[in-house]
Amino acid sequence: MPELPEVETVRRGIAPAMEGRRFLHVEAKRPDLRFPLPEKFASRLEGRTLTQLGRRGKYLIGRLDDGALLIMHLGMSGRFVVEMPPSAGSGDDMPAARPGAFHLDTGANAHALHEHIIFRMEGGGVVRYSDPRRFGFMTIEETGDEGQNQFLRVLGPEPLEKAFKPSVLAAGLHKRKSPIKTALLDQAVVAGLGNIYVCEALFRSGISPKRVAATLVKQSGEPTDRLKKLHKAIREVLAEAIEAGGSSLRDHAQADGSLGYFQHTFRVYDREGMPCTTPGCDTDIRRITQSGRSTFYCGKCQR
Ligand SMILES: [Zn+2]
Repeated sequence: MPELPEVETVRRGIAPAMEGRRFLHVEAKRPDLRFPLPEKFASRLEGRTLTQLGRRGKYLIGRLDDGALLIMHLGMSGRFVVEMPPSAGSGDDMPAARPGAFHLDTGANAHALHEHIIFRMEGGGVVRYSDPRRFGFMTIEETGDEGQNQFLRVLGPEPLEKAFKPSVLAAGLHKRKSPIKTALLDQAVVAGLGNIYVCEALFRSGISPKRVAATLVKQSGEPTDRLKKLHKAIREVLAEAIEAGGSSLRDHAQADGSLGYFQHTFRVYDREGMPCTTPGCDTDIRRITQSGRSTFYCGKCQR
């Protein structure tokens, strides 16, 4: 499931085709994804210009020239493919023309069969959305106000923004009796984190995924030193993954132009039974299930 870094990489990949461009033709091959598409979705977009493509948590947010927001979520298996005209983007590093080597959990054929939305943009770019499992969705927030939108208004702080201080994280965890792993998956505590980066951040900060979240906050509501370490680790794992996504956009051309999951080396995620990567630690990585999701951790390094 794409998390903040993957969504940000997709944003950077499709922005050159979409940002500042008019929708010439929009095709919706079915009336719904996870939810029904807004009525007259295609004709609502055609002729409008997407002035800005942003991201909030795991959501892509396109601002239209009439002020409305096009909100897109990749769900579990959503994928964008970009085609750019050969002449486009020269002079910069042309991320969309070289969309990167992405690791996909579903084959390209499955995606071809499940192509649902096609945006043909002014300038010749074509952006195709496919989603075999259809947990993703697209919607339009006509008010143009993120605070009015049912999906966006519940999101907590954006972890890479300056305003996300250790004290902000402490406020979100102060009264949480749930394990820290579960608390960090709550998008109201931090926006954009998912299973992979929560496991990685907890590993790097030496915090057990089973630890009660509130124990990382002082009685006064101030962050403990351990929470400060976790806060730093969250920002680091996300920033590194975005960087890895960016370099895969630049360095590894993929013929079909797919954007999605990129190869990334994890220190703990998906390493069950493999030795812990901490120098000098001889313990094997364990996997447990928390809130229905796999957690990977080192029982020795993480307390
Ligand atoms: Zn270890």
